[in-house]
Amino acid sequence: AGDMDGFVSLYASFENFYTRNIYNRLHDVFNRPICSAPGPVIKIMEREFSQSGWSYKFTGKVLDGIVNLGSYNYLGFAENSGVCAEASIKAIQQYGNGVCSSRCEVGNLDIHAELEEKMARYLDVDACVTFGMGFATNSMNIPCLVGKGCLILSDELNHASLVLGCRLSGANVTIFKHNDMKDLELKLRNAIVNGQPRGYRPWRKILIIVEGVYSMEGSIINLPEVLKLKKKYKAYVFLDEAHSIGALGATGRGVTEYFGIHPKEVDVMMGTFTKSFGAAGGYIAGTKSLVEHLRAKSHSACYATSMAPPVCRQILSSLEVISATEEGKRRIQKLASNCKMFRQGLKKLGFIVYGNDDSPVVPALIYSPCKVGAFSREMLSRGFGVVVVGFPATPIVEARVRFCISAALTEKNLQDALDAISSIGDILQIKYKK
Ligand code: PMP
Repeated sequence: AGDMDGFVSLYASFENFYTRNIYNRLHDVFNRPICSAPGPVIKIMEREFSQSGWSYKFTGKVLDGIVNLGSYNYLGFAENSGVCAEASIKAIQQYGNGVCSSRCEVGNLDIHAELEEKMARYLDVDACVTFGMGFATNSMNIPCLVGKGCLILSDELNHASLVLGCRLSGANVTIFKHNDMKDLELKLRNAIVNGQPRGYRPWRKILIIVEGVYSMEGSIINLPEVLKLKKKYKAYVFLDEAHSIGALGATGRGVTEYFGIHPKEVDVMMGTFTKSFGAAGGYIAGTKSLVEHLRAKSHSACYATSMAPPVCRQILSSLEVISATEEGKRRIQKLASNCKMFRQGLKKLGFIVYGNDDSPVVPALIYSPCKVGAFSREMLSRGFGVVVVGFPATPIVEARVRFCISAALTEKNLQDALDAISSIGDILQIKYKK
């Protein structure tokens, strides 16, 4: 991406040594079109690359029966049949596919209100507001809560949507080391106490922003400590449960349930419907006044089209299964036992596995970014779809394969995957040996 007639091309400054031509260099990795529901077994379209690697065409050939270890389908609701899919089809028949308006105009459906009421009840908080997009739930709502003169303390591994929300808010942002409560306290003390006259507080509000489960690390936030610090330093807490709602806790209620903490202790409970619910969109739950404030002020409530009807219905039906049926309980337990089996299996084989043993996100180290493409390609040739990640999403020598475990995967799926991973681990020499 160089000069064009003396003008710098539009995207030139975004290319660097590591990312240059990344889509051409990594044409074997798992970024091909999927032509099925993102369930436990998927179909993938084959592509043929031109010699230069600059373009590709679809061959019409489909790789069938690929075991999916990459989608965030934690509870197995990414389905194209069954009660949830049938309910969504009925929703299309009643409402159509799109809403064509925002909540503030003519896009306020009865099922949106029903979902918000049920979600608030599920989380045992006073109120909830939903949005059509999970990413915008963070990036557009954080600026409604803090602004100039406020301080945000943000975990260094927070998701891009949270980072964007922090930037758009105009608040001062201080980053603390990932899940490091000592560093969080140090940064709080530095920002509030040190150098200030006694009793003087230099910030209008202080907001600590964390996630429940971290999507590249598989770690679980030390929520009890975060809440202790919140109280000690009179701050607020914003908790993103994208990867923990449905996936953590005995009844899937997320990281608060996991630690035995009532959700009301957290000021802003945020989550997405894109993972455990197999749908799309996000929510913020908390007090009535928080929710009323966001309904009126949030750009994503006022200026964006509200959640699509079949999506809303998918969330309502999966929520019903999760919260009120034996099938829901079975899925939550199956996810937990699958996570344990897979994590233990990887460790036994000699891989370095990051994160908490209860986390459905399972990152295993590949180390060198050069091995990322080969790992993914070898997995695909053995019938497994995986997500591999390297710099700049991870530190340069901490490239990894990031497995996402699902309740829909069978023990045989997981054991076969472990066998394949083991032989590839030998070929690429990425197993840890004592
Ligand atoms: N928060 C976190 C922690 C995420 O991982 C993601 C996306 N994976 C989002 C927010 C954005 O949500 P969505 O994909 O539903 O837009």
